[in-house]
Amino acid sequence: MSNRTFTASYPGHWRDVSPDDWNNWQWQLRHRISTLEQLEQHLTLTREERAGTLLTGSKLALGITPHFFNLIDRHDPNCPIRRQVVPRLEESAYAPEEMADPCGEDRHMPVPGLVHRYPDRVLLLVTDRCASYCRYCTRSRVVSGVGEQELATDFEAAFRYLARHEEVRDVLFSGGDPLLLSDARLENLLARVRAIPHIQLVRIGSRVPIFLPQRVTPELCAMLKKYHPLWLSAHTNHPKELTIEARDALGRLADAGIPLGNQSVLLKGVNNDAKTLAALCQKLLQCRVRPYYLYQCDLIRGSAHLRASIREGLDLIDQLRGHTTGYAVPQYVVDGPGGGGKIPLNPNYIVARTEDRYVLRNYRGDIYEYPEQNPEPVVLQHNRWKD
Ligand code: SF4
Repeated sequence: MSNRTFTASYPGHWRDVSPDDWNNWQWQLRHRISTLEQLEQHLTLTREERAGTLLTGSKLALGITPHFFNLIDRHDPNCPIRRQVVPRLEESAYAPEEMADPCGEDRHMPVPGLVHRYPDRVLLLVTDRCASYCRYCTRSRVVSGVGEQELATDFEAAFRYLARHEEVRDVLFSGGDPLLLSDARLENLLARVRAIPHIQLVRIGSRVPIFLPQRVTPELCAMLKKYHPLWLSAHTNHPKELTIEARDALGRLADAGIPLGNQSVLLKGVNNDAKTLAALCQKLLQCRVRPYYLYQCDLIRGSAHLRASIREGLDLIDQLRGHTTGYAVPQYVVDGPGGGGKIPLNPNYIVARTEDRYVLRNYRGDIYEYPEQNPEPVVLQHNRWKD
């Protein structure tokens, strides 16, 4: 499959399943690949994958929707889709710089499940479940229900906190995946937040359009559009993830007037080459999704085998900027380890700087000079006639 074309996931390994079942999101969840035996029914695992899968009971659970599982190349142990969701033994090796909570979220929780780290916005963790589990998940300490911590969001206390804190104008629903909640439960939470007069904006972070596009039903979209302004950040890492089903799910959200952004994580062996990243970002634009952030992979425990270097990330942005549509170039960021928040990383386009000029390079490496504006207005001697 070309990285630039849209193909369907159905039917793949599930040839006996009717389209009605396949398109039912509850069916997809009930038939997730979640055990070693189920994995081995469809894939010949490597020794590292087998050992890694045996360890998932005490770390991050194994879970892959049939929809996403069909995107795995069963003959390629280095398949970029497979690397994201099939556990590997390397997950049990912890490097000294790695952490259970690399973004320092627990230290910034005034209320259980509510992270208030930036001045005017908060993160509300509304569930600990996802449609499938990403092996590099920043929140693997609480996500999936088998990790070392339990997510116990105190919703009533969170709503009281939001009502008291008038500086908060933006609430991001995350988790886990908020779109795994029922329409009724999600609507209840949206209505509670919307009832707080100073909240101007609600955002949802979700990988459901990619892992479980069947969940994006017309009913869900009709409910969501009642709570505008509502924005949604999808999470896509490789162009293959943008199937016909995912494109159509994103289209339904866009048709409901929801502005769509995408967050990718820079992952070794998944998207750390310029051709793949460009194809991903260009395909996202075709799906009416703006590539928003490219994250340097957090220092989550057991993720060293998936982390690319910052140098590679900067080179990749250099190879995108100017070479393709500006909308297709995400902002590369690193979350300051331990709780520093997002820090933008950009290639350097300033070659030299003097008091009165900048020497700049463009995307082709050509050099240009631009005069520095004098901050003090120049006083011309034009009023001598008054003497
Ligand atoms: S969908 Fe998000 S929260 Fe869930 S496992 Fe993946 S990265 Fe973690």
